[in-house]
Amino acid sequence: MSLAPSLSPAVSSEREASLLASVPTGLLIGGEWRDASDGGTFDVHDPATGKVLATLASATSEDAVAALDAADVAQAAWARTAPRVRAEILRRAFDLVIERAEDFALLMTLEMGKPLAEARGEVTYGAEFLRWFSEETARDYGRYLTTPEGKNKILVQHKPVGPCLLITPWNFPLAMATRKVAPAVAAGCTMVLKPAKLTPLTSQYFAHTMIDAGLPAGVLNVVSSSSASGVSGPLLKDSRLRKVSFTGSTPVGKRLMVDAAQNVLRTSLELGGNAPFIVFEDADLDAAVEGAVAAKMRNMGEACTAANRFLVHASVAQEFTRKFAAAMGALTTGRGTDPNTNVGPLIDAGARDDVHALVSAAVDAGAVAVTGGAPVDGAGYFYQPTVLADVPKDAAILGQEIFGPVAPVTTFTTEEEAIKLANASEYGLASYLYSRDLNRLLRVAEQIEFGMVGFNAGVISNAAAPFGGVKQSGLGREGGSEGIAEYTTTQYIGIANPYGS
Ligand code: NAD
Repeated sequence: MSLAPSLSPAVSSEREASLLASVPTGLLIGGEWRDASDGGTFDVHDPATGKVLATLASATSEDAVAALDAADVAQAAWARTAPRVRAEILRRAFDLVIERAEDFALLMTLEMGKPLAEARGEVTYGAEFLRWFSEETARDYGRYLTTPEGKNKILVQHKPVGPCLLITPWNFPLAMATRKVAPAVAAGCTMVLKPAKLTPLTSQYFAHTMIDAGLPAGVLNVVSSSSASGVSGPLLKDSRLRKVSFTGSTPVGKRLMVDAAQNVLRTSLELGGNAPFIVFEDADLDAAVEGAVAAKMRNMGEACTAANRFLVHASVAQEFTRKFAAAMGALTTGRGTDPNTNVGPLIDAGARDDVHALVSAAVDAGAVAVTGGAPVDGAGYFYQPTVLADVPKDAAILGQEIFGPVAPVTTFTTEEEAIKLANASEYGLASYLYSRDLNRLLRVAEQIEFGMVGFNAGVISNAAAPFGGVKQSGLGREGGSEGIAEYTTTQYIGIANPYGS
């Protein structure tokens, strides 16, 4: 996702209004858009201005159960639908998302704040899950083999796991939805999708696009709500639900894991991260600075993959920090619809205050703000792109997700120390290594406990790659050939010797 400013002219307020008017505001249940059973609604805001963008129906627990009713009714026929049919629906959905790319990008910029150029990047990334899984649909192979004794046969087949609850976060409103919906469609599962209440408009528009692509009624149900637990609570207790796939914070993921244990649900969790960005003394420093800006500033730092701790060899730390601070200080903060903007607002006032509290505590503990270090005055929840040098190794900012445009830099002197520092976290999602020595990169990758490692690359997410973490960063993988396996169960059929003896 590019951090370059958008080249297109600023978006007119008429264009914003007509797009917002085309987003369905109801709950999608059994192929129909309807009001909440109690008539309840909630507002969606623009984080750059604080203004209300739209008012959506807010699903109740009864609505959530009605959505599962619809998913359950649709499941059997959907599981029997020819893989080619499911593949072609996904392929049409890909084409439609690309055709509507400007709509999706603008919606994400409006409700989430990211600059338009980045939102366009998310459309490309998010749409690719539809195309990738359309291609995977017809290739979910089983196997047939003879038992080692040489008589009986073993047949292994994959079946859809069944109705799924999909819960998505606010930071990547399109990609987090397509990363779950596409493999579920490919596997033949029906779904209840609960988007984040801060950014549900993209999911509403995406669901409408899936229907336009030919998805049968009841396969995808969408229950946006101001009460997340009101939706998830009754569904996790319902024996018709077979899987929960959650992307969000580690504390909420843990709670859902406990609730999912009641029915021993298949559970996929994509949780928080605390990515180390390690710059060795033999790295190409200019490439490392470019990668550092990308790994830190994608989505204003509001990404689970965001570089959170810059571990730099002491011999190059000064030069790296100087160049990195110059690049960060040159970024322009503003509303995402402004073509000059490359850093949008944070999602809300609480998020901005949390980021500032971490920065202030680090500075009090001895860190130096080489650039930035404060919120931006005025409307919206903006924070200055910030580089902190001399951050003490025990500072709180190195131990938790910052989720903002702040880069703390600390130093190491040996490879062993870098590995130890990198692993000193309960998280294990993304990590980034910069060195010219491939043997060193491979050696370090083997010893660090992270689900994903970038070699001289600041952005590594790709629909064809298995995305996911170890330790408290989660369970399961999304994307790649692993992605569809999260939505299937394996059935083994033992066959008596067909020769009869
Ligand atoms: P969050 O945990 O607050 O919310 C995520 C989703 O869970 C939302 O839809 C929310 O409404 C819902 N939710 C909240 N409380 C719930 C409850 N009690 N029961 C059921 N659902 C509940 O997270 P967020 O603030 O939306 O997203 C940011 C977090 O997500 C960060 O920690 C980030 O690292 C993580 N994230 C992880 C990945 C990944 O792939 N590993 C990707 C993006 C974001």
